[in-house]
Amino acid sequence: MIIIMRPDATEEQLEHLVDVVTQAGLQAHISRGAERTIVGCIGNDALAENIPFRAIPGVEDFVRILKPYKLAARESQPEKTRIMSRDVVIGGKEIVVVAGPCSVEPNSSIFETARAVKAAGAKMLRGGAFKPRTSPYDFQGLGEEGLRMMADAREETGLPIVTEVMDTRDVELVYRYADAFQIGTRNAQNFQLLREVGKYDKPVFLKRGMSQTIKELLMSAEYIMSQGNREVILVERGIRTFETATRNTLDIAAVAVLQRETHLPIFVDPSHAAGDFRYVIQLSLASVACGCDGLLVEVHPNPEKAMSDGAQTLRFEKFEKLIRDIRPVAEAVGRAV
Ligand code: PEP
Ligand code: MN
Repeated sequence: MIIIMRPDATEEQLEHLVDVVTQAGLQAHISRGAERTIVGCIGNDALAENIPFRAIPGVEDFVRILKPYKLAARESQPEKTRIMSRDVVIGGKEIVVVAGPCSVEPNSSIFETARAVKAAGAKMLRGGAFKPRTSPYDFQGLGEEGLRMMADAREETGLPIVTEVMDTRDVELVYRYADAFQIGTRNAQNFQLLREVGKYDKPVFLKRGMSQTIKELLMSAEYIMSQGNREVILVERGIRTFETATRNTLDIAAVAVLQRETHLPIFVDPSHAAGDFRYVIQLSLASVACGCDGLLVEVHPNPEKAMSDGAQTLRFEKFEKLIRDIRPVAEAVGRAV
């Protein structure tokens, strides 16, 4: 249920409404827009059925939300969500490019990469310290040592850092080092993990599950948001289809659909979608044209030697070209890079 306040509603009237909603056993989520304040009632809808909303002073109207996601729905917040990570604004006019290696490796290449992507125009640094590998015999990441290296790379470049958390037991540890959590495609419906990051006050890059529908992705976001953390960034990273020419199929339509369905920022990860560095720039161009708020791109000084995902990883020169190429497209759709 969404309650729309009258433009002249007073703070006391708003407080009174929140009391009524809370006493009915629901949570009230206030969203203040430029013209109107709206209040979302979160919880079991049946509890709101008997409240005579129109009789409450200051209330103009109410709308039942039929969507199973509430906090993530556009109806609950018409304005786009803007998220700050240090000095970076996510979901604003500027398209935010997050770049870095798939894994943080036991050499100093994360520093070299951080410097290079920053010089090219990236605004945040990515790198995995806990790696969700398909084989238990593959490199699993450096764990806390990797987090420390990411934090050192932030020290040196000023780039906020994004890194994956795979296990509820590591959330506290990752929180201490990272500026933003990443939830990987394989954990997109790990509801315990979603709930856990929902208790923290740092942004979450939530990757779409490889076989998740858009609605299910939004329900995953809802899990995080229902715990209090409203800073969720949705990441389309390709889904599994019958096509084998690319590692996954970039669902570009999801970027369009999500803009209609949710106020949350929408990113695209062209690297995991393509699985092939030769398509990364083209998929980035399409994503920017379609209205994404940012890109998550894998970059390494020598992809041939990368410990994971080398085939889809860009060298520095190619990443510089990516930024150069997306600029005019961003401008054409009223954005900037
Ligand atoms: C990654 O970002 O390196 C990663 C493992 O991504 P995904 O979860 O989308 O496969
Ligand atoms: Mn990867």
